Amino acid sequence: MRQLADGVYWLEGLRSSNAYLVVSDRGLLLVDGGMAADVPRIVSQIESLGRAVAALKGIVVTHAHGDHTGGVTELVRRSGASVMAHRDEAPYIEGDESLPAGSLIQRAVRWLDDLISGGSKGVEVEKKLGDQDCLEFLGGLRVIHTPGHTPGSISLYQEQREILFCGDLLFNGDLFTGRGGLRQAPRFFSAEPDEATRSLEGLAELDVKVLCVGHGEPLVLENSMKMEQVLENVRA
Ligand SMILES: [Zn+2]
Ligand SMILES: [Zn+2]
Repeated sequence: MRQLADGVYWLEGLRSSNAYLVVSDRGLLLVDGGMAADVPRIVSQIESLGRAVAALKGIVVTHAHGDHTGGVTELVRRSGASVMAHRDEAPYIEGDESLPAGSLIQRAVRWLDDLISGGSKGVEVEKKLGDQDCLEFLGGLRVIHTPGHTPGSISLYQEQREILFCGDLLFNGDLFTGRGGLRQAPRFFSAEPDEATRSLEGLAELDVKVLCVGHGEPLVLENSMKMEQVLENVRA
């Protein structure tokens, strides 16, 4: 586990995706839930802070992909945390609908993702979020609807502290070669990759100091930067 900012931790060692723990006086919030097999790692890192998993009040899911949701059912069972996600993403998380897949390769990727992430078929989204909603953690976490990777993908932004959770809008490092550098998700992972690019560009005006990406190491900048500047170095 690595502390990124006061009350914000990167839970290390998950199999693929990132999960982040937010510790605030409103209780603990988990941003994304890893795969089913990641649950013991997530729980042990929460406990290493001297907190019980029951202190988890919420799990906010950036999007429905299995590597971010596979662990949620078990984490909810152990903690009673309420699951939050964008209302457009809820049907996919709840298992009522399958994510759109435009091509055969996308369908194959989705199938593989479901298989290895090990989530049981769906978990109830108790709190359905909309763009600009504010979560009462970390002094206010603003929900920004950033569709494209999936229809209801969201980012979360803490304005005063300049902390951005951007889900799979950005990866740090290549998933396959391990080479570093910020980049967008591989196109075939995204339902509408061009829309994802527009969503990313829509964040240009935000000031960031801590950038919590969906995969790879999060970035802690020495000085705050406009996302616009950060994006200059992003490979499409
Ligand atoms: Zn992912
Ligand atoms: Zn994803």
